[in-house]
Amino acid sequence: MPVSVAIVGSGPAGFYTAAALADSVDDVQIDIIERLAAPYGLVRDGVSPDHQTTKNICRKFEKTAMLESVRYFGNVDIGRDVKLAELREIYDAVVLAVGAPQDRALDIPGTDKAGVIGAASFVYWYNGHPDYRNIAPDLDVSAAAVIGVGNVAMDIARMLCLSEAELAATDLPEYAETAINESPLTDVYMLGRRGAADAKFTNVELRELAGMDECTPVVRTEQLPDGVEGDYSDRDKRLRERNLETLWEYSVLDADAKSKRIHLEFNASPVEILGQDRVEGIRLERTKVEDGRAVGTGEFFDIPCGLVVAAIGYHGAPIEGAPFDEKRGIIPNEDGRVGEGLYAAGWIKRGPTGVISSNRPDGVSVAEHLRDDFSDGGNKPGRQAFKTMLQDRNIRAVSFEDWKKIEAAELAGAEGSRPRKKFVVIEDMLAVLD
Ligand code: NAP
Repeated sequence: MPVSVAIVGSGPAGFYTAAALADSVDDVQIDIIERLAAPYGLVRDGVSPDHQTTKNICRKFEKTAMLESVRYFGNVDIGRDVKLAELREIYDAVVLAVGAPQDRALDIPGTDKAGVIGAASFVYWYNGHPDYRNIAPDLDVSAAAVIGVGNVAMDIARMLCLSEAELAATDLPEYAETAINESPLTDVYMLGRRGAADAKFTNVELRELAGMDECTPVVRTEQLPDGVEGDYSDRDKRLRERNLETLWEYSVLDADAKSKRIHLEFNASPVEILGQDRVEGIRLERTKVEDGRAVGTGEFFDIPCGLVVAAIGYHGAPIEGAPFDEKRGIIPNEDGRVGEGLYAAGWIKRGPTGVISSNRPDGVSVAEHLRDDFSDGGNKPGRQAFKTMLQDRNIRAVSFEDWKKIEAAELAGAEGSRPRKKFVVIEDMLAVLD
């Protein structure tokens, strides 16, 4: 009997796992189950709308979805429609590849004020995620603070400052495009709690700031060290040095050359969100870095702003029926093994770091485990039982062929230089199929 495998989640971790399983397990039946109708997880809903080439990886995932051994079941929520325990009853193996969809909590006073939002929600909003399309962040502000100096913070700062023409070449939903175009925003402050050499953004993303139509990066020379001090690997040192070189280049730019500015502010740790019901500013403590950690100096300063986006890292969410490490936001596992017949891959396995391809080794190691654990084949019904379960519960699953029809409608709806017109309501996607 084939080994029946259910992969929960259709982001990079899910697809890399499916590809590795199809490659390395001889007789296998792989079902990728996704809560949303559309596949690809963070590639669709997280990767920045102005980074369309990064989304080309979907072509590779598509080839995996079309393999004889693979089926896609979109619009099925594991937890609500089908319990994890039920899935484990009917499949030999279940791989959880559900990512880290929540924001790490920002633990300072004032985060309950209107105008404070987490990066996960904000990014989902401008990417047209069906659950976040209605959150309508108020962009009627002249200044915004983005806490964190990672690539997510960079994406958000940049998206807020793109010109009308730059936005028109993205697949941003109309509501987000209008909100950004109509916003009077001129200044975005990216806030790093440690020093300039400790920033987590990568150099390609940092360099992008210099090429924006209407926005100039602003860096103060007094915040920049001459070189990288500390005990780093050669690679890490080089990456830090490259960022410092770029920051030094930015420090001599004319801040008023264009109409908008992204200020890179370092050694600034958030201590309080200011304002009455709404955000009016953010209070920061100046820091110095000791043994790689930010230490407060007792000097405080405020930046007036009407929007605060906390881009301080993502966090996994618990799944009923699986163990969960609340502190780390991951499913505890041993190299992807969670329990008998239960595995994890991607951000829910190892935490929210790395680029899309970083998920590939997770898929490969899960596939290796499954090959070892099921060397005599499988003994559970898998797909057939799952289909019956969906039918009995009246759950309308979206197949990959269905998704291709939905996608064709998205591509056909694109106007001008836009790559696609995303559906942001699941019912509208399903209507394409009727
Ligand atoms: P990240 O790279 O871990 O950056 C998080 C940032 O938040 C860091 O600057 C961190 O500072 C800061 N931070 C954390 N807790 C804080 C606190 N309490 N107060 C103030 N600052 C705090 O995470 P991310 O930006 O969410 O990105 C997640 C992963 O996705 C990363 O590996 C990233 O490279 C990847 N990604 C890649 C791209 C791309 O390739 N274009 C795009 C988006 C995301 P410390 O360093 O001091 O902790």
